Amino acid sequence: MIMIGCNHHLLSVILPARMRKLFHQNRGGKMSKLSDLVPIPSNINQGLSPCRERTMLDTFGKPGELSRQCSPCTGDVRSRMQYGVSVGPFKVSGMDYAVASLMSIFADLKRSNREVYDEVHTAGMLCVRAKRPNPKSYSNHSWGTAIDLYFGNHVLDQGVPKTQLGFLYLFGLFNAAGWYWAAGYSGKSVDSMHFELADETIAKIPSHAIDHRDLIAAADYIAEMGYGSVAEVA
Ligand SMILES: [Zn+2]
Repeated sequence: MIMIGCNHHLLSVILPARMRKLFHQNRGGKMSKLSDLVPIPSNINQGLSPCRERTMLDTFGKPGELSRQCSPCTGDVRSRMQYGVSVGPFKVSGMDYAVASLMSIFADLKRSNREVYDEVHTAGMLCVRAKRPNPKSYSNHSWGTAIDLYFGNHVLDQGVPKTQLGFLYLFGLFNAAGWYWAAGYSGKSVDSMHFELADETIAKIPSHAIDHRDLIAAADYIAEMGYGSVAEVA
C-alpha cells in the first residue's frame, strides 16, 4: 500500500476539495505559511482511539508523581525511556517504542516532504504530570508516548478547534503508524499539536524493552499492518 512518497496523492485521497485548494494556494507562499491556521479535517484517526489512562496504568504502571508540572519518571517504565535521542528534525525523550516509531515517521517525511521536515518543531514529549484539564489523571506525556509539535514560532493552544497547515502533511503519517491525533478530541479538549500512541497501538507494542533495531522493525511492521485505512478514506 502506498501511504507516503507522494504527498499530493495522499492529500488528494484524504483531503476534501476545499482543503486541497487551500493547500495549493499556500504552497506558493513562504514556509511560515505552514503555521497558518486551517480547519481540522473530518476524516482523521480512522480505526484509532485516544489512549485511556487505565490502559497505560495496566500496561506500564504508575510513571511517577501526579504533579502539575513535569516531574521525574520514577516508575518501572523508566527502564523503557530513552533520553535526548535524535529522531531526525529534533531530539526527544520518550518511551523506546514511541521514539523508534518517530524515527520511522520522520524518515518517511524527509523523503516525501523535505520542507515540512525542516520546519517542524517539538514542544516536548516525556513529561510526568497530570492532564491540564483534569488534575486527577495522568497525561499520556507521563509515559513518553505523546508528543507536541508546531510550526513557526508558537504552539496552538488546547481548546482552539483549528490546526496549523503543516499538520495536514503529518497526520496521515502519524495515523498510519498508530498515533492518535488529538485534533479529534471534542470541545475544549481539542489539542491539535498533540499526537499520542493510540489505545489500539499500546495493545500491540512489545511490553518489555527490546533491541533498538527490533523496535524500528516493530514500528515499521505496525505501520504496514495496522492502520492503512487512512489511504482508503474518500
Ligand atoms: Zn501534548
